[in-house]
Amino acid sequence: MSFNNGSPSSNSGKLTAYRGHVVSPIDRATYKDIPEGVIVVDENGLINAVGKWSDFQRQQFSHVVNYGKQLIMPGFIDLHIHLAQIAQAGRSGDTLLGWLTKYIFPEEAKFASVDHAQHRANWFFRELAANGTTLASVFTSVHGKATDIAFKAADAFGSRVIMGRVFMDTNSPESLTDDPQKALAESDDLCSRWHGKDNDRLMYAFTPRFAPTSTSASMKAIGELWARHPGSYMQTHLSENIDEIKWVAQLFPSCKNYLDVYHTHGLTGKNSLFAHSIHLSDDEKALLVKTSSSVAHCPSSNFFLKSGAFPIREMERAGVKFGLGSDVAAGPEMSMFKVMRDAAFMQSVDWLSPAELLYLATLAGAVAVNKQDRLGSLDAGKEADFIIVDPTRKSSVDPELLEHPAEDILSNLVYVGDDRMIVSTYVRGKAIYEAKQAETPGALNYGSRVS
Ligand SMILES: [Zn+2]
Repeated sequence: MSFNNGSPSSNSGKLTAYRGHVVSPIDRATYKDIPEGVIVVDENGLINAVGKWSDFQRQQFSHVVNYGKQLIMPGFIDLHIHLAQIAQAGRSGDTLLGWLTKYIFPEEAKFASVDHAQHRANWFFRELAANGTTLASVFTSVHGKATDIAFKAADAFGSRVIMGRVFMDTNSPESLTDDPQKALAESDDLCSRWHGKDNDRLMYAFTPRFAPTSTSASMKAIGELWARHPGSYMQTHLSENIDEIKWVAQLFPSCKNYLDVYHTHGLTGKNSLFAHSIHLSDDEKALLVKTSSSVAHCPSSNFFLKSGAFPIREMERAGVKFGLGSDVAAGPEMSMFKVMRDAAFMQSVDWLSPAELLYLATLAGAVAVNKQDRLGSLDAGKEADFIIVDPTRKSSVDPELLEHPAEDILSNLVYVGDDRMIVSTYVRGKAIYEAKQAETPGALNYGSRVS
């Protein structure tokens, strides 16, 4: 099989052409901009070619879907979100440790109920798709059954996830305190059954909540278990809040710093993902780089809980791999448009260009989870995880915006965007969300589906 980029395809299998304005990141500063473009998707859901429609229009396709002037962009990658917290979004008024006790732990305890877990999981995956997120790295709760239900729901819905059962066995409310042996056995079993399913559409992450809620023995055991499942992930929280950091220093006096707690327990390395990482020392940044560990920057959450400002340029200069996360429910919304905007707003001095924000919400996330060869941008050979975006579906947007250059449109998306702009969400070439036509004035004006 050969992959073309920008020239007509010679593949004779079943191909679908999606016509529209293709916008896709190339790197931190530049992006592909093809106003009358097309992405060609094969029957396995892989991108066969990307280019100008004029170069492809004489080719035979099984289907042609014409989105007119609407945008075709890579789906968003949300590196950090909590399924078991979605119903608590918008519960403000306290910093991290108080907020967890007041709102979050009681909500997560409800996932002991299979009915509750099913109900919430169904809602969660539909919401992710409605927000244009095509890969999310998800924390569930300390419940093996609820996590299994979440994987089944993601599998059935067609979502792409990295997900794991939360592990906490100390300093936790009684209803959420794990028996470590049971927690390890359930995590082992979930990873064995789900990791890599459907050619890596579903992936498993070992998920100790954060250092204060794990004993040293459990963290070591989780590290050993993670090492026994090649290709799986490890996700946790790091250096979010000053009181939290002081607490970790008291709990683990022999460790050099917060990241060293994870490092000495075998929890750093490729496919490890640390949420927040706001207040790191230079040693900790260097250790992230040295171990090829990654960070989920969650600006909306950091604003919401007044945790502090992620030093984005310092992290970049240090060479740390990072992308963006919504951190719902500490981040109030799943929309990665809002997360991009907050990432820009959070920097009080530095400017982040719209192109850079788009990169952080897509390709940088793929790099952070070591899937940049398959995800994060619209390029031949990658998985067809893409979204159709029409900014004119939202109020307060110039109805003629789609006539403007991509630079104007992108700037509008990152500062004004929300879930109303999502027309369709595709994972591996399959539509998992489509907004109702009646609600898409842009689609009626600019495009129509032709099969
Ligand atoms: Zn979190």
